[in-house]
Amino acid sequence: MDHYDIAVIGSGPGGYVAAIRSAQLGYKTVIIEKYDTLGGTCTNVGCIPTKALLDSTHHYAEAQHQFKEHGIKLDQIELDFSQMYKRKAEVVSKNTGGLDFLMNKNKITRLKGTASFVNNSIIKIVNETEMREITAQHYIIATGSKPSTIPGVEIDKKRIITSTEALSLEEKPESMVIIGGGVIGVEMASIFNRIGTKVTILEYADHLIATMDHELGKSLQKILKKEGIDIRLNHAVYRTENADSKGKVFFKDKNGTEGGLEADYVLVAVGRSPYVKGLGLENTDIQLDERGFIKVNENNQTSASNIYAIGDVIGGAMLAHKAEEEGVFVAETINGQKHHIHYNRIPSVVYTWPEVASVGYTEEYLKQNNIAYNVGKFPFSASARARASMDIEGFAKVLVDPKYGEVLGVHIIGARAADLIAQGVIAQEYEVTAEDMFRISYAHPTYSETLKEAYLIASGQGAINI
Ligand code: FAD
Ligand code: NAD
Repeated sequence: MDHYDIAVIGSGPGGYVAAIRSAQLGYKTVIIEKYDTLGGTCTNVGCIPTKALLDSTHHYAEAQHQFKEHGIKLDQIELDFSQMYKRKAEVVSKNTGGLDFLMNKNKITRLKGTASFVNNSIIKIVNETEMREITAQHYIIATGSKPSTIPGVEIDKKRIITSTEALSLEEKPESMVIIGGGVIGVEMASIFNRIGTKVTILEYADHLIATMDHELGKSLQKILKKEGIDIRLNHAVYRTENADSKGKVFFKDKNGTEGGLEADYVLVAVGRSPYVKGLGLENTDIQLDERGFIKVNENNQTSASNIYAIGDVIGGAMLAHKAEEEGVFVAETINGQKHHIHYNRIPSVVYTWPEVASVGYTEEYLKQNNIAYNVGKFPFSASARARASMDIEGFAKVLVDPKYGEVLGVHIIGARAADLIAQGVIAQEYEVTAEDMFRISYAHPTYSETLKEAYLIASGQGAINI
């Protein structure tokens, strides 16, 4: 039986980063993945393919709606749906190829198959052709998550689909109903609405992207509505039906009035569940919480002290970069190094256009916890850079402690918010003040100046630039 220092189960952003860091630290490392390609949800059916399609469809929408005003005339703008999906597949394949390279470079053994625990110290790996057992000093479980559903909604992968099937459609749908106005809901709605699919979002809560600062969801709702997406808040879906060539969805609004819709596809985006099926956890001392996530302590150690768990399978924010941080953290913890993950300083991004990005406390959280704060908010419409590019929607909002000026939260909806938020992360991680943030120089004209103005306003000064 082969023996390793560290065995990583699952090759998503949690697993592959954990394996690379372990190998860099000198450990004999193996990574086990049940699919043919490495990269997990994020690389194969999550972050990467969605961003590829969001970019393609954004270019298409710009060509249709903005080029003329920029003075660019195109005789005919035509959508080549197959080419768009082909390019998406190529982007994914370049990324999975990059992971193969990194595994080889770091001399990480790669085993294909489903891993399951025989007991706390042995795992069995089964694939189409063989079964083998291995042992390791330490295990890192990084098996991720799968789409969840709700009572009455059965995902048949034909008409009632998830984001995974939406990423491999063969032709452009004429209509789509999306259940859930969370992150997947609004990103998918943007992709399909831009290419001319009639999109309806049915959302149970009273605003979109409900976990982020509420002003962001409200602003995003207005923008997406203007773009033609039918958004119905306070709508609880309770049943779907596959009607051969269509999907049907039934819901109740906040007054209890029932309704139904029919579309080419019903896309279910109501959250994701931890993936522990087939892992043989019943043969170990590992415990799950009431929602099925693997329980871990502050070192990401499970109830079996030689087995660690990271990423979506332990819950918290289901984000690729959160899984990556935990991958590094666990490898370094095994190595005796000490550091710490500040979960409140992990940014969240929604890749609609404009993008939405957030880090730190929301206004709702500060109010609920009676924490005093000052708000500084600056609109993109007042930014010279935004006007030059015709990206004037949105705002940058900072929340600042009134006494010491500490930055408590940064919330942006606007062009390139996904990249701008890195600055908010630095401000929070190093506990600098709003004054520190407005006294540094910001290149002009850039979108980042909206943040400088927001810090000035939060500190009691007026805006000084455009
Ligand atoms: P995963 O990426 O889910 O990887 C787990 C891997 O483990 C899988 O490859 C699985 O096959 C394998 N596995 C499971 N069980 C076994 C077993 N028993 N044996 C062997 N292998 C096993 N996050 C972002 O930060 N940014 C984004 O833009 C973003 N976009 C997303 C878009 C979509 C449509 C979706 C669905 C998700 C998106 N996410 C995004 C979330 C992100 O994909 C996840 O948070 C991230 O992939 C979690 O990483 P992980 O390593 O925990 O697990
Ligand atoms: P989510 O939790 O973000 O949103 C699910 C939404 O479905 C919620 O708003 C909820 O109110 C709604 N809902 C639940 N039951 C409903 C019902 N019966 N009727 C109508 N609406 C209902 O989950 P998601 O959008 O599926 O995303 C899953 C995970 O994937 C998220 O945790 C997210 O972090 C991750 N993800 C991240 C990104 C990114 O970082 N850009 C992109 C996609 C996915």
